Amino acid sequence: MKAYDVPPTPENYEIWYAQAAAASPALSQAMEAVFANGGAWSEAAAASLRERFFPPANDAESMLEIATGLGSSISSIQESVTQAGHHTRSYGKALEVVSGQMDRGVDSATLQAVARQLAAATQAMRSRAEILESRLNQASSEIDGLRSKVDAISQEARTDGLTALANRRHFDEKLADAFTTSEQICVIMGDVDHFKGFNDTWGHQAGDQVLRLVGACFRENIKGRDTAARYGGEEFAVILPDTTLRNARTLAEQIRTSVESKKVVKRSTGESLGSITISLGVATLRAGDSPDELVRRADACLYTAKRSGRNMVVSDEQLTVVKNSATAA
Ligand code: GH3
Ligand code: MG
Ligand code: MG
Repeated sequence: MKAYDVPPTPENYEIWYAQAAAASPALSQAMEAVFANGGAWSEAAAASLRERFFPPANDAESMLEIATGLGSSISSIQESVTQAGHHTRSYGKALEVVSGQMDRGVDSATLQAVARQLAAATQAMRSRAEILESRLNQASSEIDGLRSKVDAISQEARTDGLTALANRRHFDEKLADAFTTSEQICVIMGDVDHFKGFNDTWGHQAGDQVLRLVGACFRENIKGRDTAARYGGEEFAVILPDTTLRNARTLAEQIRTSVESKKVVKRSTGESLGSITISLGVATLRAGDSPDELVRRADACLYTAKRSGRNMVVSDEQLTVVKNSATAA
């Protein structure tokens, strides 16, 4: 940490400890990416690593609680099942005794006694079965409750708190999924234009409000198996499985128009804060691409859109044209 000029804060220690313990190859890769091309450690870099690789502590606590709950439900089931086994064995023994008595020949008094023994043993067995059944029902409804808690927590762990879109972690998972299920994938990367200026002028809270608004523009324009995510601070991304570059471009253009058409108004005063714009890059899967490479190309398109004046969509094929003409020149 000293070598890389990383301040010795508890947060940084947690990350570097996990790295030293070789906890996750993905974490190591992401940390290398921070320092790639002369990059340096920053609070933002640490925050983004923490968001991706270290779920908030309250998640861990709830998970522990659920695991404990599941453990005790399961041991109560085990106990009931073991008891049921004992009961079945003693019922079996009672039946053996009775049938031994029958073998020795029966008069009517013995027959009556045998019938009574049999009825009593059967009754006992039935009431034990009822107790077992109600215990099992109770344990299974406990497990149902725990399962819905787990669902809620895992949903929360994949959702961005501000925009309610998928978060970065979920985006990475979904993109990896798309690589296993789809041959044609497009990725859109979007970044709000001059957002630092907006924050500086109107404050961070108004900025957050804008991010919610932009998030809604992404949500409104995607459908079906598409995933819209908040990729980082003011960056958004969309995964489009089984989509042509042409259709992805159209969608990016819709998102761009939709952001541009929104009027930003200060809630407290009704004051108009003008409008905002977004630049977008669109890339399509090429043979041999890794998920990172596809995202990198969408990002390169986004960068070109920024350099070419912002509030526009640049796609893969245009990037190739721009590069070629640059080479020709
Ligand atoms: P460009 O058009 O080149 O993208 O310019 P920009 O000002 O948007 O780019 P820059 O990367 O310099 O600034 C991004 C700003 O986004 C910095 C930070 O103030 C703001 N930002 C990032 N995350 C958040 C957030 O969660 N809330 C708010 N309000 N602002 C954020
Ligand atoms: Mg940015
Ligand atoms: Mg920006």
